[in-house]
Amino acid sequence: MTDTEAKTVGRLTVHDDTLDVAIVGGGLAGLYAIHRMRGLGLTARVYEAGSGVGGTWFWNRYPGARCDIESLEYSYAFSEELDQEWRWPERYATQPQILSYINHVAERFDLLRDVQLNTRIAAAEFDRATDRWTLRTDKGAVVSARFCIMATGNLSTPRVPDFKGLETFKGNWCHSGMWPAEGVDFSGQRVGIIGTGSSGIQMIPLIARQAKHLHVFQRTPNFSLPAQNGPMEPDREDPHKARYPARRQEARMSGFGVSGYPSPTQSALDAPAEERRRRYEELWQRGGSIGFLTCYNDFLVDAKANETAAEFVREKIRSIVRDPTVAEMLVPIDHPIGTKRLCLDTGYYETYNRDNVLLVDVRSAPIQEITERGVRTAGREYELDAIAFATGFDAMTGALREIDLRVKGEAALADVWEAGPRTYLGLSVAGFPNMFLVTGPGSPGVKSQMILSIEQHVDWITDLIAYACDRSISRIEAEHEAQDRWVAHVNEVADSTLYPVANSWYVGANIPGKPRVFMPYVGGVGVYRRKCDEVAANGYQGFILSGSRSLKRAG
Ligand code: NAP
Repeated sequence: MTDTEAKTVGRLTVHDDTLDVAIVGGGLAGLYAIHRMRGLGLTARVYEAGSGVGGTWFWNRYPGARCDIESLEYSYAFSEELDQEWRWPERYATQPQILSYINHVAERFDLLRDVQLNTRIAAAEFDRATDRWTLRTDKGAVVSARFCIMATGNLSTPRVPDFKGLETFKGNWCHSGMWPAEGVDFSGQRVGIIGTGSSGIQMIPLIARQAKHLHVFQRTPNFSLPAQNGPMEPDREDPHKARYPARRQEARMSGFGVSGYPSPTQSALDAPAEERRRRYEELWQRGGSIGFLTCYNDFLVDAKANETAAEFVREKIRSIVRDPTVAEMLVPIDHPIGTKRLCLDTGYYETYNRDNVLLVDVRSAPIQEITERGVRTAGREYELDAIAFATGFDAMTGALREIDLRVKGEAALADVWEAGPRTYLGLSVAGFPNMFLVTGPGSPGVKSQMILSIEQHVDWITDLIAYACDRSISRIEAEHEAQDRWVAHVNEVADSTLYPVANSWYVGANIPGKPRVFMPYVGGVGVYRRKCDEVAANGYQGFILSGSRSLKRAG
């Protein structure tokens, strides 16, 4: 049982909790963490800012929001029964379908009784005298916990650029990552969409069909591949489900956490041009991004090899978009393909053949301000009734830096990370004991099938907490030297690839002033898993395990 004490703060009654484990965030990671902590016999509670669970899939309810990993892969793997029973209606699930799956899981495993909604964690402080965290909620409640699991997500801090005059705009505006729950009706409206990343590319075709007129404000064109989505066919679902455990295991040891894509052995430059073209065409027709990313072993490491695929996609864009000037505006030239998140679309490039859609280049004529009537660029004012911002997130570090997170008397995490995030394995931060990150910077999280990484991280953290409880250890802290070695390794691996070249959110390029540090680990999920397992097998090498205020596990 959770120890709870009620008190009144202002006009609110709030509950103070004493827990074994506080979990921040009620998305896919936080929910799985409750399940595992309960399994250890520990008391755990999730604190979630939203009015429902689901995290990313709760907030990103814009038209066309859909996962770019296939549904049979993008789901929890911890329950074989769940895997077999759940029916995904489409090859790639929509946001409502994924949210309904998450709610089903939360009910099926009775997780909601340990979720406190509408509660944001504002601050968390660790006391070395007691080996406990004290968390403060935005409602004024205080939570005491031995361990803290930060399941705060990587794309959970939406960012509307600091445009002058936004407050004067007379129409409606919204951001993809905090879309109104009731939806937005753009019928008959002049709409502007700012941003052409994954979110923009998904919403543009749908909003174009509804709006009277759509202006797309593009700063940088992105590579997008066809999803080739469709209803889930039995000949896709049945063989997959027949081998589900084996496919899950294959995914765990793969590069991107998705099964069915063995590590490539051939160089794109060794393949004859005609054969290479046929291969790219086949992948284009099959749909999805992982096929491209894993088609040749030098795709992401050799600029010339990469260029063969980039040029194939550019030719596709030119063949789809009828107006050659517009086609050239849409052709990406500033980064190797795959070094920014590859977008998946349904009818994106075709949308620019519509009479009611106008592409505006805001690289050559940047947005100067939002006026009461619309958007003003260097050249002209565009009159709009509504603006949709698909301008991305303060990715990977934004949510953690927003919390005043510190050890009593020491510097806050936001300051410690001023020059960029530093972690040990993306799971722990030296100097912040008993706090664990799920899919943190320095892990392959965002470069993988996220749910697979979430499960691996939460399982690993669960084993470590069990290890500590069984040995009466009350403090777990990463060593600075181990962290330094890991950060150096993450950088070395990144620098051996083309990834750091791109101005992506992986390097924080979308946030003015954010230090340019390549944040994910791109050595592959299988390699990373082996490393984590090795650390555990060696008695949690790189961690200082100390203290003797033991936690008792029930059961
Ligand atoms: P994003 O990839 O960061 O794209 C943001 C867009 O806004 C970019 O086109 C950016 O241009 C533009 N932008 C930002 N500030 C601007 C400014 N001041 N003026 C003009 N344009 C500006 O964000 P996102 O599309 O929300 O996607 C983020 C990530 O979420 C994805 O990469 C993906 O990992 C995930 N996601 C996944 C799915 C899916 O599963 N299908 C869907 C949506 C999102 P620049 O490129 O020039 O900076």
